[in-house]
Amino acid sequence: MSDSNAAAIQTRTVQALRDLLGENSVREQADPALPDVIVKPRSTQEVSQILQICSANGQALVPLGGKTGLANGHFQTGSEIGLSLERMSAIEEVDAQNRTMTVQAGCILQVASEAAERHELLLPLDLGARGSATIGGNVATNAGGNMVIRYGMTREMVLGLEVVLADGTVVSNLNKLLKNNTGYDLRQWFIGAEGTLGVITRVVLRLRPRPQSQNTALLAVDHFNEVAALLRFMDRQSGGALSAFEVMWPEFYEFVTRNGSLHRPPLPHGSAYYVLVETQGSDPVADAQKFEEMLAQAMEQGLLADAVLSHSQAERNALWEIRDDVLSFYALGPSIPFDVSITIDRMEDFVRDVRAGMAPFEDKICVVFGHLGDSNLHVHLGNTQAENFDYAALCELLYSAVERYGGSVSAEHGIGLGKREQLHRSRSAAELQLMMQLKKMLDPQNILNPNKIFAAEKIAAL
Ligand code: ZN
Repeated sequence: MSDSNAAAIQTRTVQALRDLLGENSVREQADPALPDVIVKPRSTQEVSQILQICSANGQALVPLGGKTGLANGHFQTGSEIGLSLERMSAIEEVDAQNRTMTVQAGCILQVASEAAERHELLLPLDLGARGSATIGGNVATNAGGNMVIRYGMTREMVLGLEVVLADGTVVSNLNKLLKNNTGYDLRQWFIGAEGTLGVITRVVLRLRPRPQSQNTALLAVDHFNEVAALLRFMDRQSGGALSAFEVMWPEFYEFVTRNGSLHRPPLPHGSAYYVLVETQGSDPVADAQKFEEMLAQAMEQGLLADAVLSHSQAERNALWEIRDDVLSFYALGPSIPFDVSITIDRMEDFVRDVRAGMAPFEDKICVVFGHLGDSNLHVHLGNTQAENFDYAALCELLYSAVERYGGSVSAEHGIGLGKREQLHRSRSAAELQLMMQLKKMLDPQNILNPNKIFAAEKIAAL
């Protein structure tokens, strides 16, 4: 399609949308990464009408949540318009009896979490962008975060879903049943599909009892095999209460707690690994005692070299702030925040290979940390001197290692635009073909978030 043709379609569609929704719901915006025109529906019915108009005109659109994703799934790639769910932010119900919550897609994650807490319940999803990420975006990207080891990824907490298809059809199944084996599980088509198969409008989430105790410690460990053994030990000894097992390689920990930084080092520098562990339970006194005993045993068995336990919420926050301070690495120079999965038995060799690949760079940034309990590593690679930064070379170095070690090119951030060309490293040709056929069936004109996950030419060539 020519640019002028695309522009004419957009003008015609936007006018039809203004007529339908009113001036106030169709806004222009200036951020060049995002669509120029953003539509803001107030209901599922309006989303359906918008999609009917867009499909009648062949107008592409990008569903927008909190725009906090790291795979650029919310970016504009041509003449798409934006479909923001921000006005559909209501918590429609917290059902304490069935331990579910029904929310509209634009509900902010933190708002939903706090609503669950008021009923002594837990929405077991937590991530750095909690204050602006939306539930719809979390579901569309199958977000991971800090409690996956215990509760699984977002997919695991979605019981029901309402989506609007490309032609405006509303498919609603606001299911609250934990067991519901009635044919194909259509939910799973849309969870993690990044808005390419349908627009999520409402979600039923599974809630859990709110933990009454939390015990947190930062540990120093000398060797990787001890890190892996410590994870198995803690998982077993805690009887399933382990809710975080986050590992920082020394470049991470020592930089974040360096002299003059925001954080004081709770443990001295010089260890090989720093592990943030947390358990959640139901009995504050007994759980704290059990946690201390467990760490003492681990130390006796030589699984850890040093430990500091938090004794207050402020101390716990200080430990988590060290782990969460990932943005400070951007101050070092241009870098890429990779998000990959590698099985734990191959992780040490993988990191050694990546480091060896980075060795020739004089001004390298090479920082490793991750949700080790979920086999998920985050690797920042870059250069302190911007002129030496080579995006393609760093991607090749990292992703070829992921492929060699049989890992996943995206653990929790999704594919979006950023990882599209790497997808084949983690998925077979038959899988990719089936995914594209599904896309073609649900969205024959490719108007839903085109170019994300698959380039538009690939879908067109099917
Ligand atoms: Zn993460």
